[in-house]
Amino acid sequence: MGKVYVVVGAGFRGFCDTLQLIGEPGAKIHMVDREPFFGGISCSGKVKDFWVDKGVHMFDGIPRELADNVTEVMGGQVRTIDFVSMSAFNGHLTDGFSLPDLSSLPEDTKSRITAELKLLAADAGKGSPEPRHLRGLLQARYGATAGGIFAGIFQSIYDIDASLVQPDALSKTSLGRLKHLDDPLMLALKASDPFLDAVLAARRQALGKVDELVSIYPDTGQAMRGWCLRARKWLEDRGVAMCLGQGIESIESTGGKLRLKTGAHTIDADRIIWTNDDTQALAGLLGFDFDTHDWISGTPMLFAMLITKADHIKDFTYLQNFNSGGKTYRTACAGIYSGQIDADGNSFVTCECPTPIDSERWNNHHEAHHAIWQECKALGIVSPGAELTGHAVMRLPSTFKLAKLGYDEKIREFQAELGRRMRGVIFRDVKPFFRRDIYLDSLKVRDLVNA
Ligand SMILES: Cc1cc2nc3c(=O)[nH]c(=O)nc-3n(C[C@H](O)[C@H](O)[C@H](O)COP(=O)(O)OP(=O)(O)OC[C@H]3O[C@@H](n4cnc5c(N)ncnc54)[C@H](O)[C@@H]3O)c2cc1C
Repeated sequence: MGKVYVVVGAGFRGFCDTLQLIGEPGAKIHMVDREPFFGGISCSGKVKDFWVDKGVHMFDGIPRELADNVTEVMGGQVRTIDFVSMSAFNGHLTDGFSLPDLSSLPEDTKSRITAELKLLAADAGKGSPEPRHLRGLLQARYGATAGGIFAGIFQSIYDIDASLVQPDALSKTSLGRLKHLDDPLMLALKASDPFLDAVLAARRQALGKVDELVSIYPDTGQAMRGWCLRARKWLEDRGVAMCLGQGIESIESTGGKLRLKTGAHTIDADRIIWTNDDTQALAGLLGFDFDTHDWISGTPMLFAMLITKADHIKDFTYLQNFNSGGKTYRTACAGIYSGQIDADGNSFVTCECPTPIDSERWNNHHEAHHAIWQECKALGIVSPGAELTGHAVMRLPSTFKLAKLGYDEKIREFQAELGRRMRGVIFRDVKPFFRRDIYLDSLKVRDLVNA
């Protein structure tokens, strides 16, 4: 008789952990989620007759073995994403590069950045203290000038000062590398020193193929929902029991097992694997007060879906806009890469637009599409003659979740209390963010449950 596991959270993290656990001989797995659908944030919603992802969601830069699984789950119905990324900064567009490209700055500013980088390179490895916050990290990587520019970009996208978030927030941003010169000069600077090689970037074409990672997307015309539907069935076919739309009513320890009750199910499990960040709910179930909400910054966005004729949409994957005062951050040709063009030739782009809660634009979001559409035209995302034939603008109060200073200590406190209250409940680290990181982190779940 194998072990019984309950995985709480049917998002991608829960999927990855379950994928590892079904490999354990005799294991019986129950997936529990309070929402009635599978996939969490990965599951697209129907908007104006199209399936729309809540942001740019794809299996980008994933390891081969995960890509093989996604392809198997999809019965081969996947398309390769051939990234055509762009970015805008300082009023200039850079093709083939999605991070901020500072190369349009005045020559004296670029020389200062280069000089600051060389000083940092000379000091690298001499035991400087670890930066305490993201602003410190940006300056330690890129110098005062470029670090300051990146901190400003960070504030305008994430609506929080970089000195208030943990340095590891960097891994969720598009600020992980610096490019401030043209590609040949960047390549020469990178080649001159290992520190500079690690922090600087050149455009992909100039670097050649940099890794063996794969980028794919479901090809059933339902956007990421296509994967969510198939992944649920794929797991059920392998014996996983789905308990969706179920609030958890209690967790108690009884007869060497953990008894978890929802309205409709009572499950006696050997381990409960908690794969979401709702510390408050888990603490409440185990009888103590705890909440990490105040240690997380949520990044509010207006999310716009703009419909126009497919042949008026530029041939691109996504554009990241770092222009100061920009209304849009990431705009994607989501309708095109998800294969959704209706009988009239219409498709859509999506725009994630950083917008502070209660700002004028937030409060008047029904009118925001005018300015967003004009910005799409100005950035060349849709052609000048394109007509907006439909739109929807949604308010998303919390998209990219960033750990504020003190979050790690708080989580350690939580883990310690959890260990005292109930052994066998495993709170998964929710820091791994991109699908590749979540998948790689899931490779340790079998060790965790058997510890
Ligand atoms: C806007 C945006 C765009 C992104 N784009 C990409 C991308 O292109 N590529 C990439 O690799 N990564 C991307 N990411 C990151 C990636 O999507 C997420 O890290 C990942 O999908 C998170 O999966 P998850 O299972 O942890 O969370 P979720 O998908 O949020 O799933 C958590 C699940 O837990 C359930 N749950 C929560 N609390 C409880 C409770 N108390 N009881 C029961 N169930 C509960 C929820 O209902 C939900 O179903 C993006 C993230 C965002 C925010």
